[in-house]
Amino acid sequence: MTEAVAAPAKPAAADWSAAVSTIRELAPAGRVLLICHVNPDGDALGSMLGFALGLRRLGAAQVQATFPGEFEIPEPFTALPGLDLLVPEARAWPAPDLVLVFDVAAESRLGALVDRLPAARATVVLDHHASNTGFGSVNLVDPTAAATSVVVEELLERLDVPLDVEIAECLYVALATDTGSFRFDMTTPQVHEMAARLIATGLRPGEISRRIFDSRPFGAMKLFADVLSRAQLDPAAAAGHGMVWTYATLEDLERHDQRPYVLDALIDPVRCVAEVDVSIVVKQQSDGVWAVSMRSKGAVDVSAVAVALGGGGHRLAAGFTGHGAPGDIVIAVSDKLDNHLI
Ligand code: 5GP
Ligand code: MN
Repeated sequence: MTEAVAAPAKPAAADWSAAVSTIRELAPAGRVLLICHVNPDGDALGSMLGFALGLRRLGAAQVQATFPGEFEIPEPFTALPGLDLLVPEARAWPAPDLVLVFDVAAESRLGALVDRLPAARATVVLDHHASNTGFGSVNLVDPTAAATSVVVEELLERLDVPLDVEIAECLYVALATDTGSFRFDMTTPQVHEMAARLIATGLRPGEISRRIFDSRPFGAMKLFADVLSRAQLDPAAAAGHGMVWTYATLEDLERHDQRPYVLDALIDPVRCVAEVDVSIVVKQQSDGVWAVSMRSKGAVDVSAVAVALGGGGHRLAAGFTGHGAPGDIVIAVSDKLDNHLI
């Protein structure tokens, strides 16, 4: 007998209309603060800036976009439209009228900006993580969406904001990032239909892909070479599905004069290893503190592993913060893999 698996719940009609009426009521005259997650990726920044530009088209005059932590925009995203709306967290209004949150599964990913939520009259959360805790006053969480930008596009449509080439570029960067350039499993017909709508506005997909995926400093390439050369293969891990892992230290970054965000792309060559299902990159944040990125090809629910270790994410792409030595962190992960086979 097969067990019935409940389909993940998409936003209800009442959630969409609550979001539309909240934004229509508060955005035109109020201060609107948009927040995405710490260490923003293409979906976080693209979804947030695309919606920020949409709010401008709606006539909102006071719009700020921000994210917690160091105010550094990864080089691949420095040409995104709408960047002029970005402010460092310290400059974000302490008591905005409306807060909009993008690609954030839990309040822990908001850092010090979490205090803006109770200060606002309403918080609308736009996200696609199944683990989303529903911390907004209105929650638009669609776990079937390939990216948060899918939710953003639908909300803009419901607000009667037409796509222009600038909004479309932001949403395209977000969609391409979270689908791994339209290669991952969630690359559905709907994803390609959305991409077609975005490209039809006149954006240049080749140029955008080159900028966000295929462009990296020479030093970063040399850094990748060092870090990849110390990767370790464990074919017996995950009940024989196999695991590969490596780590990068702050000293590695310094030696090659590179910024931490360049390591976000390092999981890609690692996850291509044919012999394994699970891939892991452990990235030093500070003394004894490491950001752990995990990917699975389908045999392991790495989101459950991440949650068990204090983090979160999606079934096939997840992460957490680890403490101690990288080898010990990986042993802790490896011990959990067998318990979360799909
Ligand atoms: P990445 O490995 O690309 O940093 O993250 C993959 C996925 O895991 C993303 O969906 C991201 O939101 C989630 N994730 C990564 N690190 C953490 C973390 O420390 N905590 C939580 N809750 N989610 C994380
Ligand atoms: Mn996302």
